Amino acid sequence: MSLIKNDFVVKNKYSRPGAKRVVTRAIVLHYTANLGGTAKNHQNYFDGSDGGGGRYAGAQVFVDKNEALAIMPLQEMAYQANEASCRIAALKGSLGGYTGNANVTSVGVEMCIERDGSIATATFNRTVDVVVELCKLYNLSSSDLYRHYDVTGKNCPAPWVARPNDWGRFKDAVAAKLKGDTTSDKFYTYAPDHVKSLKEIGLYSDVKLSKDKQIKRYAKGTKLTIIGVEYDGKTPRLRTAKGYITANKENVKGYHDYIGTIKILTDDLNYYDTARWDKADGQVKKGEVYTVVKKLGSGHYLLKSGRYITSNSKHVKFVENE
Ligand SMILES: [Zn+2]
Repeated sequence: MSLIKNDFVVKNKYSRPGAKRVVTRAIVLHYTANLGGTAKNHQNYFDGSDGGGGRYAGAQVFVDKNEALAIMPLQEMAYQANEASCRIAALKGSLGGYTGNANVTSVGVEMCIERDGSIATATFNRTVDVVVELCKLYNLSSSDLYRHYDVTGKNCPAPWVARPNDWGRFKDAVAAKLKGDTTSDKFYTYAPDHVKSLKEIGLYSDVKLSKDKQIKRYAKGTKLTIIGVEYDGKTPRLRTAKGYITANKENVKGYHDYIGTIKILTDDLNYYDTARWDKADGQVKKGEVYTVVKKLGSGHYLLKSGRYITSNSKHVKFVENE
């Protein structure tokens, strides 16, 4: 059964031109850049004769925490990856009047984002499953996946442009599932920046975690920095600077390097998609709270969402993570 529910918008020249792709060589990943907007919100937006405000835009599939909606038949073309010239030679296709255009050779998948601009874990996981389904349908592999950024240079999906490791994790998860491997449901198959132990766990000098190679025990709640993943046969283990620990999600919980949070102190404060001060990409509101990845010399904080905002304490109150 398909994970993707059909909820088609009416044909219109902007969001559903109705032309059919002749080939499908890639899947292009996007984010909606629309804080808190669901898949259904976007379906509603693109429906109607002006197809979302008379802009040539859209994508075949929208994914949120709860569902995945195809807003047009998958074989139709959407205006999703061509607002600048196509950088990937293999994706330049032509169809009717459309030439040199990745829209006619690829399917677009949009991830909805949370109110803080991040991609929820449930959305990430559902998008993995949707993309696995599309790869099977079109006989593609994880090397046929692209960020919108890779195709045209647009900052999309911004969280994966800011954190390329997350994009790598996404592709690895798709590759593993395509091989019929469900290991990633139970184990970390990538290295989180850190883990916290959910119960008492052992540190071992060998990847098999053999009893006689145990170095020490860590109490529940211990935080450890992870430097890689290695396999004992098919079972992943997490590597620290001192040895190996379990990668089982029942035993450890992964987390990233966030330095703290900020609370917004002034209304309509600008944020930016890159570390600059002109041409704001949007505003945040007084009282909202955001997670901070790092502080930059330019006077910006980089947020978990991939956006940049002032670090001036007149406008934002920073609270460091413990
Ligand atoms: Zn995009």
